[in-house]
Amino acid sequence: MNKLHLTGAYLRAFRKYAGEGGHVQIWDIMRYAADIVDIAAREQSGSLNLLDFAYSIGITGIIYNEQVDMLRPNEYGTIMVFPDEHKTYIVIDEKRSRQERRFTLAHEIGHYMLHIRDNGRDFCTETGEQREIEADLFAGALIHFIDQRI
Ligand SMILES: [Zn+2]
Repeated sequence: MNKLHLTGAYLRAFRKYAGEGGHVQIWDIMRYAADIVDIAAREQSGSLNLLDFAYSIGITGIIYNEQVDMLRPNEYGTIMVFPDEHKTYIVIDEKRSRQERRFTLAHEIGHYMLHIRDNGRDFCTETGEQREIEADLFAGALIHFIDQRI
C-alpha cells in the first residue's frame, strides 16, 4: 500500500530525527515538533495557527463528525488516508470543547507526521498504545511551540 509522502523540508526534518528503522525516537519528538513549527512559520511568513499548519503539511481537509459519522462514542477524532487519491482527512468530534478539539487536531497531525509516511519501507512497528502516547507527546509539543509564536 502506498502511503502519503512527507516532502521537502518536512521530510528532511523527519529524517534528522528518525533513528534506525525510520522511527522518531520518543526523546526527539519535542525537537522534531519544534523544527517543523519553524519550517511552517517560514513558509507562512510568521503567522501560524494549527489549521494553517495542518494544511501546510498536506492534510486535505478537516471534517466535523456530524458530516461523516465515523467516530465511536468515546473517540475525539481520527485520521483517514486515501493513498490512491493522495488525500488525507482529519475527522473531529464537533461536540467536544474548543480545547479538546484543538488537542485532537494536534494529536491526529502527530499520527500523520510520526506514523503515516513513505520512505520506501513500513516503519510502523510500534504498538497501537505506543503510537497514541507518541501522538499525545507530539500534540502537546506542537501546541506549545505554535502558541509561543502568537
Ligand atoms: Zn490517536
